[in-house]
Amino acid sequence: MTRPESVAAVAVGAGLAVGAWFYAALYPTSQLFGRVVIAGEDPGELALTYDDGPNPAATPRLLEVLAKHEVRATFFLIGESVRRQPGLAREIAAAGHAIGNHTMTHPWLSYRSAARIRGEIAGGSAAIEDVIGGEVRLFRPPHGARRPVVLRVAEELGLATVNWNIITHDWRVQPPESIVEKVRNGLRRNRAHGRGSNILLHDGAMDQPRMPSVRATETIIADAKAAGMRFVTPEAWV
Ligand SMILES: [Zn+2]
Repeated sequence: MTRPESVAAVAVGAGLAVGAWFYAALYPTSQLFGRVVIAGEDPGELALTYDDGPNPAATPRLLEVLAKHEVRATFFLIGESVRRQPGLAREIAAAGHAIGNHTMTHPWLSYRSAARIRGEIAGGSAAIEDVIGGEVRLFRPPHGARRPVVLRVAEELGLATVNWNIITHDWRVQPPESIVEKVRNGLRRNRAHGRGSNILLHDGAMDQPRMPSVRATETIIADAKAAGMRFVTPEAWV
């Protein structure tokens, strides 16, 4: 006979296990499935990271803004977009920005087979390296989603896995001021916790309207410079 309290205990245990899995797989700063680079311990450092490009509708303008302010940023590129926009990928590299792998087609890796995971990560690196001619050392899983095999494969391929600690939800259309506000709150929080800031932004996949993120970048840079902060790339924290 099964007593109701033991059924309840199993249900609670299963609920916790599922909760722990989601935390480990999807919480951007969780380290439970293996090491993920977030930021260093110096609150004066920040990294601007842009995902999903290259995007002809936003990346060229973003490159202008970064060049104007002489800021080096990090771009996590999607392999198939690099194949379609090789010239733009080369421009990012030529401007001196750090380039990372954001997989070949941007799937949720936490739900894919080990073979697909390997294909996506290896394919992403190959597509980028073919075009820019340099070695890729950084990897960001789409949506930050991972499971142990994702981190293991990335490491075997010579990649440090990088997530973030400031999120702006800029994949949803919103005014630049709203993106800036989220960054300001995140910087304040990180300063209070004595850690650097790794800011997730999006120049977006092919033709997505990401100009609010580009405009927000102007203000984020001005704020950071006024506060005497230093721009780094996640390579500084590996
Ligand atoms: Zn992405």
